[in-house]
Amino acid sequence: MRTKVIAGNWKMNKDFRQTEELIDGLKKSVNFDLQGVRVILCPPFTSLELASRIAKGTPFAIGGQNMYFEDEGAFTGEVSPGMLKGVGCQYVILGHSERRQYFGETDEFINRKVKKALATGLIPIVCVGETLQQREQNITEQVVTTQVRGVLKDISAENVEKLILAYEPVWAIGTGRNATPQQAEEVHVLIRKLLAELYGAATAERVIIQYGGSVKADNAADLLWQPNVDGALVGGACLKADSFSAIIEAATAKK
Ligand code: PEP
Repeated sequence: MRTKVIAGNWKMNKDFRQTEELIDGLKKSVNFDLQGVRVILCPPFTSLELASRIAKGTPFAIGGQNMYFEDEGAFTGEVSPGMLKGVGCQYVILGHSERRQYFGETDEFINRKVKKALATGLIPIVCVGETLQQREQNITEQVVTTQVRGVLKDISAENVEKLILAYEPVWAIGTGRNATPQQAEEVHVLIRKLLAELYGAATAERVIIQYGGSVKADNAADLLWQPNVDGALVGGACLKADSFSAIIEAATAKK
């Protein structure tokens, strides 16, 4: 039985004061009896240290939204995995579609980051997903297969069990149009089959695959309780304590 993982990707939202407000709100609204569900908060870099500090004593883990694959040096604007760990991060989102779309990140580049995160002891949440155009061209399977193979290149079975994959159809991100539970389950099954091909069935069964794309309080339960959906990567709905806590509750409530 895989645990469910709910991660909130705050993106470029919430300054210092708002970070405190949101985490205080979550402390009040989330039932800390999480029944094994993992909850991760991923604020912007500038709020990570504060978030780690005020989340102490709560079940919330902290994650970065990106990192570079070098330890230090002349890489203006970048942040290293060691720096993330140093401010209390256990997780890091890698290969988000916005990084691919606006900052030109490729599967090969993301793969280098995934390897580095694992080597540093961070758990990467690695994103894949097709665009609307690709879905309409009926090439979702091809696109997602290429991405998964690319981001996991030369990663061992032992390491693949440590990371989290997030299937995030680009057309569902921030659009209010979520994949139906059936559409999500279909792609998650495809990814798990691919993992079985690459790493064997036992390993594939253990890998956590989150769904992301317009997950909200009112659609979370149906998405989260698909057999191969092991949690959610949440954007917009994680920015308010009540909506994020309702999603967490949907993951903890037995269906
Ligand atoms: C995301 O950015 O990873 C995401 C899923 O966003 P939203 O929930 O707003 O669609």
